[in-house]
Amino acid sequence: MDNSSDRAIVLRDTPGRSTLAAVDYRVHELLLRQEQQERTTLKLIASENFASSAVLEATGSIFTNKYAEGYPGARYYAGNEIVDELENLAIERLKSLFGSEHANVQPYSGSPANQAVYRALLSPGDKVMGLSLPGGGHLTHGWTVNFSGTDYKRIPYGLHEKTQQIDYHRLRETAKRERPKLVWVGGTAYPRVFDYAAMAEIASEVNSYLVADIAHISGLIVAGAHPNPVGHCDVVSSTSHKSIRGPRGGFILSRNEDRYQELYHPKSKHNLAKRIDRAVFPLLQGGPHMNIIAALAVTLQEAANPSFRTYGKQIVKNAKALAQALLERGYDLVTGGTDNHMLILDLRDRPLSGKAYAERLAKAGIIANFNMVPGDPRHPAVTSGIRLGSPAVTSMGMREAEMAQISAFIDLVCRQPNDPDVHARVRRDVADFCAAFEVPGITNRKPGKSKVAT
Ligand SMILES: *Cc1c(COP(=O)(O)O)cnc(C)c1O
Repeated sequence: MDNSSDRAIVLRDTPGRSTLAAVDYRVHELLLRQEQQERTTLKLIASENFASSAVLEATGSIFTNKYAEGYPGARYYAGNEIVDELENLAIERLKSLFGSEHANVQPYSGSPANQAVYRALLSPGDKVMGLSLPGGGHLTHGWTVNFSGTDYKRIPYGLHEKTQQIDYHRLRETAKRERPKLVWVGGTAYPRVFDYAAMAEIASEVNSYLVADIAHISGLIVAGAHPNPVGHCDVVSSTSHKSIRGPRGGFILSRNEDRYQELYHPKSKHNLAKRIDRAVFPLLQGGPHMNIIAALAVTLQEAANPSFRTYGKQIVKNAKALAQALLERGYDLVTGGTDNHMLILDLRDRPLSGKAYAERLAKAGIIANFNMVPGDPRHPAVTSGIRLGSPAVTSMGMREAEMAQISAFIDLVCRQPNDPDVHARVRRDVADFCAAFEVPGITNRKPGKSKVAT
C-alpha cells in the first residue's frame, strides 16, 4: 500500500534526500539508479558534466518558489528585493568573468537564448549564416527542421574538404554574395578553435551582426583555454551546463550599443542590450527560474577560482591525450585531432554505424553519442561517427594517464563490437576504474571508503 501521501502532509524539514525517499519512493529509486550509473560509467558526452554539490544545492533551493517577472528593480511581483540582489550578483559575475558590457541570465536554456538573439536582431525572413549541422553547427544556427531554418533564410556554411575545418575563404565569398544580417560562429561538434577575428572581419565587410554561440566552450573560455569572443562579437550566447559546469540554463552577453542601429533598427528606441532583455522577457519568456540563477551565480564564483583555470586547461590536455592515444591505435579523427574538449571519431571505414558503436560502448559503461562526420554517407539517425568529450571525466579528477586507459577500453569494444563477453568484462573494469575517483555532486569519498551515496 502506498502511504507516501500521508507522509507528505507532515513534511516540514528542509527537503533532502531522505525526505524524497519518504515522499516518492519511485523517483528516489530512479535517482539512486542514475547516481549508480554515473558513478560507475565513463561519461564522455561532450556536452555533459558534473555540477558541484554547491551548484546542486542552489538548484534545489527555495529560490525555485519565487516569481520575479521583469528585471532587477523593475519586477511585476512583490517581495523581490532579495532575488534582485541575487540576479544582479549573477549578472555582475558574468560581466566581469567574460569582460562584457551587458549580460542577461534569464534564458531557460541554450536554445531559448538563441531564439531571443534572433528576435532582438532580425525580422523573420532575414538571412542567417551558420555552420551546417553536418559540419558541427547547432540546430538553432539555421538548420532545416528548427525555427531558425523555417522562419529565417538559412545560408549554411561548411568545412574545407581537406582540413575539415571551417573554410573561412569560402565563407567570406558566400557572405559577400548573400549579405546575411547575422553570422553565427560556434558549434556543437567542432573540435577546433574558432577564429573570431577572421569572422568579425567578414561580418563587418557585409554589415552583418556576428554572434558567437559558446554553449560548449564557455568553461574553456573562462579558464583561458580557448579565445574569448566577447570583444569580436555583437552578441555571445551560451548554455550554463556544459564545460562551465553549472545548472541547466542559458545566458546572453552583448554590447550595450548596436553598431547597426541606424541601418537595421532606425525606429527602435532601444539599444542592443535593451532589445536582448525585451526579447527574453516579455517577448519569449515569463518568470525567470531564480533557483537556476542562484546556481549560475555559484557556478561563476567557482569558475572565478584559480583552480578553474587549471580545470579548463586539463580538459583540453585530456582531450588531446585521448585523441593522441586513439590515433596511435589506428583510429581516424575528424580534423586529425582537437584543440578543445571534444574529438570526433571517424568510423566510416569500420563495419558498423556510429549508432551501433555507441550502443556497444554503452553496454561496456562508456557513454558517448553518435555524430555525423563530414561527408557522412549514413543517415543522421545512425551516422558514421562518435563524439567524445573530456569535461566530465576531468571533473572526476582524471588526467592524461587515465585517457590512455580510456582509449584502451574503447578499442577493446570497437574491435569486438559483437562479443557480449567483451562488453561485460570492460563494463566491470570500467566500474573498478571509476571507483578510484570522486564524482562531484554524487560522491565525496576517497578510494576504499563507504560506497553509500552522499
Ligand atoms: C547545447 C547547445 C545549444 C542548446 O542548448 P540547450 O540547452 O540544449 O537548448 C545551443 N548551441 C550550441 C552550440 C550547443 O552546443
